[in-house]
Amino acid sequence: MNSLNVQPINTERLTPLSPSYDPWDPIRSLQKYGRHKLTSVEMTVSNLCNMRCEHCAVGDTLVMKEPEKLPLDLMLRRLDEVEHLETISITGGEPSFSERTVREYMLPLLQYARSRGIRSQINSNVTLPYSRYEQLAPYLDVMHISFNYTTADDFHEVGFARAGHPVSREAAEKLYERMIDNARRLADAGVLVSAESMINYRTHHKIEEIHKLIVEMGCARHEVHPMYPSSFAKNLPVISRKQMLDAIKRLLDARDRSVWMLFGTLPFYHCSDNAEERELLGRLAKEPNVTVRNDPDGRNRLNVNLFTGEVFVTDFSDVPAFGNIKEDKLDDLFDRWLGLPLAGSVGCHCPAVSCCGPNLLVKDMYYKDVDFHQRRAIV
Ligand code: SF4
Repeated sequence: MNSLNVQPINTERLTPLSPSYDPWDPIRSLQKYGRHKLTSVEMTVSNLCNMRCEHCAVGDTLVMKEPEKLPLDLMLRRLDEVEHLETISITGGEPSFSERTVREYMLPLLQYARSRGIRSQINSNVTLPYSRYEQLAPYLDVMHISFNYTTADDFHEVGFARAGHPVSREAAEKLYERMIDNARRLADAGVLVSAESMINYRTHHKIEEIHKLIVEMGCARHEVHPMYPSSFAKNLPVISRKQMLDAIKRLLDARDRSVWMLFGTLPFYHCSDNAEERELLGRLAKEPNVTVRNDPDGRNRLNVNLFTGEVFVTDFSDVPAFGNIKEDKLDDLFDRWLGLPLAGSVGCHCPAVSCCGPNLLVKDMYYKDVDFHQRRAIV
């Protein structure tokens, strides 16, 4: 397929994203092809950001000034070669920090995706002027934001913890209000706004309250992930698996059942010898409008750094790049990754419970010495 000659797809013909259709979940391609396939490409288009959140998973890569990116044409060509591509994600930093990046990279990438019938997501803090997002909205499926607050004070404390200079409460409050307003406007414009909350030492005891605000903002989906110690988050206090489990149970009791709840990177598995954890997974599987997404990183997705062309298993892990789009096709690089022992170490699959193994960070944190190939789901 030539990226420049494709005709726009009528979006009404695309299957709506919903709890029963989440193309980011790698279990779908595993079931369809009988092996992991590259169906999703994430692109890091910025290392700039107007915030410095204490938990930022890519905090160490943030800069004040960044180099030129690779030509867009090269990226489009590499996307075009991905035979089974179903989704793209655009991430940063704050990807829309530079107006030029919005116009010259993000917009054409979204237009390309739309023309090929591929679903798209942007990871943004949506605190910049609405005009940045407005031009992207007609071509965008999912606007993914972080929301871990119950007040502007929380936002002030968390969002600028690593700024290195004082940020006034008034300045933070303005951004907080703009974020809420932008999220509402994007939802009104028909974009699926998905707010992600981390379960961590700050949020686990008030996750229900955070959920309530997310619903009030008009978000169609609330994503919940435990926080793992990556980059800036490395030195933050950790909570126990039991505290995570209790927070999730309370959230399930209190949630608005009309809003899609998506859980990801949970440290609980059906093969666990902990009955309470297995019971929670059973409950999650039965609850209406609730999904547990398998981890896409390295299962159906790769990350491309658009400054260097390097290809990673995810934008935030310590796993080094294993190739470069300047030299190789993404499908070939994906096969190279699957051949590495690290990929094999999390490459189990229990079809009975639609699970395809642990996230790399989760395994490293909680299950270092566990050989998942020796385990089976207990059903
Ligand atoms: S696929 Fe792996 S992690 Fe999931 S239940 Fe089976 S053995 Fe456990």
